[in-house]
Amino acid sequence: KNSTRNIMSKSDKKAYEEAAKRLKMQKQDKQKIVPELRDKSRKEYLEKRRKEKIDDLELQIQEEEYYFKDTKLTEKEKQRLMEKKQQLELARGHQRAADIMKRDRYYIPKEGVKPDNRYVEETEKGINEMALWEEQHVKAALTSYGSKDAAGQKKKEYDMIMDEEIEFVQTIKMPGTGGKKNKVQLTEQDMKKLSIEETKRSLPIYPFKESLIEAVRDHQVLIIEGETGSGKTTQIPQFLHEAGFTDNKMKIGCTQPRRVAAMSVAARVADEMNFKLGNEVGYSIRFEDCTSERTLIKYMTDGMLLREFLSEPDLGSYSVMIIDEAHERTLHTDVLFGLVKDIARFRPDLKLLISSATLDAEKFSEFFDDAPVFRIPGRRFPVDIYYTKAPEADYIDAAVVSVLQIHSTQPKGDILVFMTGQEEIDTATEVLMERTKRLGSRIKELIICPIYANLPSDLQAKIFDPTPPESRKVVLATNIAETSITIDGIVYVIDPGFSKQKSYNARTGMESLIVTPISKANANQRAGRAGRVSAGKCFRLYTAWAYKHELDENTIPEIQRTNLGNVVILLKSLGINDLLHFDFMDPPPHETLVIALEQLYALGALNHMGELTKLGRRMAEFPLDPMLSKMLIASEKYKCSEEILTVAAMLSVNNAIFYRPKDKIVHADTARTNFFKPGGDHLTLLNVYNQWVETNYSTQWCFENFIQHRSMKRARDVRDQLEGLLQRVEIDILSSTDSVDIRKAITAGFFYHTARLGKGGQYKTVKHQQTVMIHPNSSLFETQPRWIVYHELVFTTKEYMRQVSEIENNWLLEVAPHYYKQKE
Ligand code: ADP
Ligand code: MG
Repeated sequence: KNSTRNIMSKSDKKAYEEAAKRLKMQKQDKQKIVPELRDKSRKEYLEKRRKEKIDDLELQIQEEEYYFKDTKLTEKEKQRLMEKKQQLELARGHQRAADIMKRDRYYIPKEGVKPDNRYVEETEKGINEMALWEEQHVKAALTSYGSKDAAGQKKKEYDMIMDEEIEFVQTIKMPGTGGKKNKVQLTEQDMKKLSIEETKRSLPIYPFKESLIEAVRDHQVLIIEGETGSGKTTQIPQFLHEAGFTDNKMKIGCTQPRRVAAMSVAARVADEMNFKLGNEVGYSIRFEDCTSERTLIKYMTDGMLLREFLSEPDLGSYSVMIIDEAHERTLHTDVLFGLVKDIARFRPDLKLLISSATLDAEKFSEFFDDAPVFRIPGRRFPVDIYYTKAPEADYIDAAVVSVLQIHSTQPKGDILVFMTGQEEIDTATEVLMERTKRLGSRIKELIICPIYANLPSDLQAKIFDPTPPESRKVVLATNIAETSITIDGIVYVIDPGFSKQKSYNARTGMESLIVTPISKANANQRAGRAGRVSAGKCFRLYTAWAYKHELDENTIPEIQRTNLGNVVILLKSLGINDLLHFDFMDPPPHETLVIALEQLYALGALNHMGELTKLGRRMAEFPLDPMLSKMLIASEKYKCSEEILTVAAMLSVNNAIFYRPKDKIVHADTARTNFFKPGGDHLTLLNVYNQWVETNYSTQWCFENFIQHRSMKRARDVRDQLEGLLQRVEIDILSSTDSVDIRKAITAGFFYHTARLGKGGQYKTVKHQQTVMIHPNSSLFETQPRWIVYHELVFTTKEYMRQVSEIENNWLLEVAPHYYKQKE
């Protein structure tokens, strides 16, 4: 190197060395950051990156200036230095912009602010322009909030009371659908004054009552399409009841993809008709039958109707069957399509209604031999759609902040927030409670209502209570509120853009529930929920760019991404043997079907001809995953049905048993580990249940042991149901205290889920040699036995096995001889 460039004073040199050391450390840090990306908020990450970039550039410039201190620079060198300095300026600009945006997150576009279409238009140019787009955003932020004064004024204007807010940009207005009618806005007062009768009359479906009844009389199969909330689910069965379709003790059935919807809608209809729920109007969901001899209108989950085919293959007691929410395309609904289409052929008196909220009507019509489509004109007020300016990584936090932001800046109207599941809803509820408490009287009352499948029904009903004046309701819901249930009074929707979806790996046959981005169709349904009673607003916690480029148009039907074991066994027991030619609207992937058949063969439910065995026939009685059914039936051989019933019931509420309050994590974990039993998690679950029984089902005991009483009660219900089914397949209820017997019965069902500890101290699944780990919550996490069976795999940061038990290698041959022999 040029020696002149090494002339440095001592202090210069020291400073330089320090700088170099820092640079090196930062580089190491950077490598560390990347794996953190998954958990850390993206914003934090970006901020860190920005700071680093500035430091980096500063150092580089500093370095070069040292080098060039005493030399004349060439043009090229000058140019390079200039470029670096420009880059530094730009990076500092970004930093300033980010700082300002952070400080100035107190901003919701106000009424009458002109829609800004720039963001959408800019994105038209495509993915490559993401960088440019972000740049422009930063610039825009710099120009609109560039001066401190302007920022200061904004703060005053919005009377900030919160530490944090989120900045949204408005892009589009989703138009209303009812023409002039949109102008008639119902005030809250109006809504409350409406009696049940008046509410019914106000529903969009009401004027079509007569023509709908006529259409049902004229056609055997009818597709019904109407906007969510128009009254399809609650009104159509009543119309048909009035029109005489329930004469001669015939029933009207209506399927729902979700349990909560079936329950809540049945409750509403019973109310409207002035009957006690469970009498003339009832519902039936897995592990809960709320119907009677007198039931005329029956709401049920699609899965329950499938099971009804087993006892009544021609649906002989029904005059009308409504397959509702057909657009959801759940696995069970899809299978029902094929079955009811078939039945309609030899039961000309059965009326079939396929009802859907969206535009798939054509497709349904085509599938049902060009059945006519009955359209109910919708009525929806316009909805303004807002996007966040920057991606929000922690959407729960962002949702909470947005709720408070809306509550403190926006006019009257309830808020609906979409979350992916119970855990998230509980967290969000907790945080919201805490923050509203802290804000005290500085904000008006906020009524927080969670709703999800496992919520007790009295609490479910609470979400429909009218909101008292001077307060606001916020409903935290899973995507059940997307189309299945309608809550009046919602004006604001917060959509983080995710839902929990089943995903299935056809190669390994493994199924898991994963938080996945929703589709555009879902996003628009969600937004539509804001426009039912008046013009509304939808706040999407993602950017316009993400909407445009990261969301799929439609959700893939469940049948394409799920384990088919259950359905195959059910169809086989209905005598449908040729599954490859079953009339599916969208057939499942061939591979998925083959894997399901293979698994059922391994379990002994099918013979080598693909026919249902005696064991398979018994397994079909249980509304459970085939592996669980097999485990239950195997308990006969090992004389431990009492214990296995409990294990199965506890597994069915599985992840909702222990809770860990944030302030008492240590206590909770100690309480949990105290239940540990040698042998593993299944025996631990059994232990929890048995101790609870000993305390005579005590709530207090649950509380003291950090156990969710609600889940335990549910386990008890499930257990009762399963016990009934076990007796139906004539298995005696026997008890064994031998841990080996119990674990052998478990292995008989779950031998497919065997993993073995390898030489490197890592578990590999036996079937696919996939590397997996025991979940840290497991009682076997430290023991690490050589052979184990697991209940399920969950993928978080690693592939974890949850609910694990220790087994012995030689049991495998005993419990699944024809599977393991064949392997050798
Ligand atoms: P659709 O099936 O067309 O989406 P629904 O029949 O579910 O419409 O809803 C129609 C109306 O019935 C809703 O606007 C709501 O006002 C009312 N409703 C439905 N369920 C309940 C309930 N459980 N409590 C109170 N009102 C309800
Ligand atoms: Mg409905």
